[in-house]
Amino acid sequence: MNLYHDLEKWDKEYVWHPFTQMKAYRESKPLIIDRGEGSYLFDVEGKRYLDGYASLWVNVHGHNDKELNKALHEQVEKIAHSTLLGSANVPSILLAKKLAEITPGHLSKVFYSDTGAASVEIALKIAYQYWKNIDSEKYSQKNKFISLNEAYHGDTVGAVSVGGIDLFHRIFEPLLFERIPMPSPYTYRMTEYGDAEAVKKYCLDELEKLLKERADEVAGLIIEPLVQGAAGMITQPFGFLKEVEKLCRKYHVLLICDEVAVGWGRTGSLFACEQEDVVPDIMCVGKGITGGYMPLAATITHDQIFNAFLGEPDEHKTFYHGHTYTGNQLVCAVALKNIELIEKRELIKDIAKKSKHLEEKLNILYELPVVGDIRQRGLMVGIEIVKDRTSKETFTTKENIVPDIIQTARQNGLIIRELGPVITMMPILSMTETELDQMVEIVYRSIQTVTTSLSLPR
Ligand SMILES: *Cc1c(COP(=O)(O)O)cnc(C)c1O
Repeated sequence: MNLYHDLEKWDKEYVWHPFTQMKAYRESKPLIIDRGEGSYLFDVEGKRYLDGYASLWVNVHGHNDKELNKALHEQVEKIAHSTLLGSANVPSILLAKKLAEITPGHLSKVFYSDTGAASVEIALKIAYQYWKNIDSEKYSQKNKFISLNEAYHGDTVGAVSVGGIDLFHRIFEPLLFERIPMPSPYTYRMTEYGDAEAVKKYCLDELEKLLKERADEVAGLIIEPLVQGAAGMITQPFGFLKEVEKLCRKYHVLLICDEVAVGWGRTGSLFACEQEDVVPDIMCVGKGITGGYMPLAATITHDQIFNAFLGEPDEHKTFYHGHTYTGNQLVCAVALKNIELIEKRELIKDIAKKSKHLEEKLNILYELPVVGDIRQRGLMVGIEIVKDRTSKETFTTKENIVPDIIQTARQNGLIIRELGPVITMMPILSMTETELDQMVEIVYRSIQTVTTSLSLPR
């Protein structure tokens, strides 16, 4: 009996993988992970891979962290789960207090859920109901949300409704509520508007136009601060987020910051919005919150919003929303330990230093003619691959160049993923500079291997 072959067979027979064309998957040789250690994953055959996507953007301190393991063991010896509906538990209280202390400004009320998408659904429902609770007549029209072109906020129907990625979202259109789109400052592909400053100004002017006309209909604006991750690591020009905040204030629209991808140090500060001194009305966190151990997300807001939900039972101001595992003890205990370790290990300072190092290293990729654009904020990187630097034309799905690069990287011992024409690198936040260098070197080699045989304009 060969363990890999049995697992491969059962995987292909029984498991439906997310965001995966299963026809192609079933023709491929799947990667079956057995264990992890620090910055590395090991497959069932013992082959080692550098985890260059932080196991889908979640891992903070490395795999199999002894202190996180211990926190989980200690909690499971007490209790795994009791409900937060009408009762409380120790780790969820301590974690909420901690979140209130470390999140920007006056954010202080924590609503737990278990995935980023749920935290977004909750944010949208809170924002919508907030206006109804304070004055249902005056704000009867405030029912819509503004979001950016290319926005990604998760895969549940509400989160998809505020999404703007055609490829993922178009098919579900008849199921969705209407959103109000605003342009996203995708500077690399908007040079017809001018430089980054001009693109920023164009997007902000468009937003202000929308708000001037339609603010009465808008409950909130949702945005990923600094970088639109799933859109292909679209980095926003400096000052963009601050101006969006100002416009939201000016036109009485709630600002929802989706920090699910960019939070927990990913962009160089604990939360991305801190870099522009922005305090959202509602903030969504997920992914890295448990250090990559378990599913947890939270929607965090301030007293002004929370207080609008207070009232007598028959006033129906209650927020009728909750998930069965809301505030689960195991998850909250690991999250609390993760945050303590971020502080104790001075991870944020370390990330700032490593990001600089990575930035210098990444520049060598421009030696390769297919590298059109390198976008980076902290330890969040997108490399846009093009056929031709002048026309910026991308390879077709059929040509399969970017997936081939990803496969080649895997053969070279690095796991990364692509988003359309963009190779993404989301290293584990605790990776050393040497490991980051290795990551870039493998990406360089893999791009070179796949593209040298192509005849390309230089
Ligand atoms: C991943 C992601 C989500 C969705 O989180 P899930 O845990 O996958 O539901 C939402 N928003 C952003 C910005 C994300 O990157």
